[in-house]
Amino acid sequence: MKVTINGKRCETPAGKTILQAAQANGIYIPTLCYLEKIGALAKCRACAVEVKGNPNLLTACNTPVTEGMEIFTDSDRAVAAQRYVVDLALSSGNHDCMICEKSGDCELQDAAYFLKFEDKDFRRGNYPTDIDDSSPFIRVDHNRCIMCGRCVEACNRIVVNGVIKIINRGFDSRIGFDCDDPMGESSCVQCGECTQVCPVGALTNKKSIGKARVWEVEKVRTTCPYCGVGCQQELHVKNGRIVKVTSAEDGSPNKGRLCVKGRYGYDFIYSEDRLTTPLIREKKGEFREASWDEALDLVAKKFKDIIKKHGPDAIAGVSCARSNNEDSYQMQKLFRSVLKTNNIDHCART
Ligand code: SF4
Ligand code: SF4
Ligand code: SF4
Repeated sequence: MKVTINGKRCETPAGKTILQAAQANGIYIPTLCYLEKIGALAKCRACAVEVKGNPNLLTACNTPVTEGMEIFTDSDRAVAAQRYVVDLALSSGNHDCMICEKSGDCELQDAAYFLKFEDKDFRRGNYPTDIDDSSPFIRVDHNRCIMCGRCVEACNRIVVNGVIKIINRGFDSRIGFDCDDPMGESSCVQCGECTQVCPVGALTNKKSIGKARVWEVEKVRTTCPYCGVGCQQELHVKNGRIVKVTSAEDGSPNKGRLCVKGRYGYDFIYSEDRLTTPLIREKKGEFREASWDEALDLVAKKFKDIIKKHGPDAIAGVSCARSNNEDSYQMQKLFRSVLKTNNIDHCART
């Protein structure tokens, strides 16, 4: 379809929204509640635009483009509406960006910067000052919540855990967990999906707080080392250490989701308890360090002795849940073809 956006001729496939058409043509429209994987919520109204021939402003996130549409995202009327919404969002909480974990990666900050805010026009007397620190991995800062509703949709529709809802009315509105329980006492499974979709610093990963600013990290795409699903994730690495893990939105099979293990279970990498060399148990029961050659020779000799005395089904192999597909394949080949037993399993349930 051929449309014009701010006087510029653009092309867009049929079935796209104004927001998608603008994004595809490099035109920014402020959004606070829209998230592609959830779809248009059209709650925040920050994406107000003007369309020629239409007396009302339209929300870009849920208005389909039509052939020949003339769209204005930067008209005085559209910008005034966008500013009004962003102004209310800024004014409804305590947005102290300097000390906020989300600074540099915050969609409210981006919108305010784009709209050239120097100050906010409204003053709210009482912020909802409570911080819910009750859960092991997620910090809930109600002061920074802009009530966009993304976490509600994500918890209910993407990971289908049904924990978050919006409770109360008016100034008292806020997100709540189950029957307004502290997050740590609710049925939340700490999958962290809500932290991934939150556009601001209201839901943040505790383990990452104070570890790195967004511009200091390099993102490394990898496969989660836990179970056989093989979720795609992004490691946020600063000075060679992982400071945060998020999910890769474009990757199958998880498409932006992770479970608690994949998102928060990365401490083992830096554990002092990790084995870095094989250990052989001495007769007295104590372990001593050994070379790989010595350890493998010992295991091979013991396997041979057991098979000679009791047959191959007297042994079994369990490969590590963190080994990759190819290593696991080799392990079952070794047991089935070389050692001649089908006693082989994989502990993919870490
Ligand atoms: S949530 Fe965004 S706007 Fe609010 S303090 Fe944090 S970075 Fe600033
Ligand atoms: S961590 Fe997961 S289960 Fe818990 S509230 Fe967030 S999305 Fe729902
Ligand atoms: S916690 Fe975040 S995602 Fe949830 S409503 Fe508030 S701002 Fe939106």
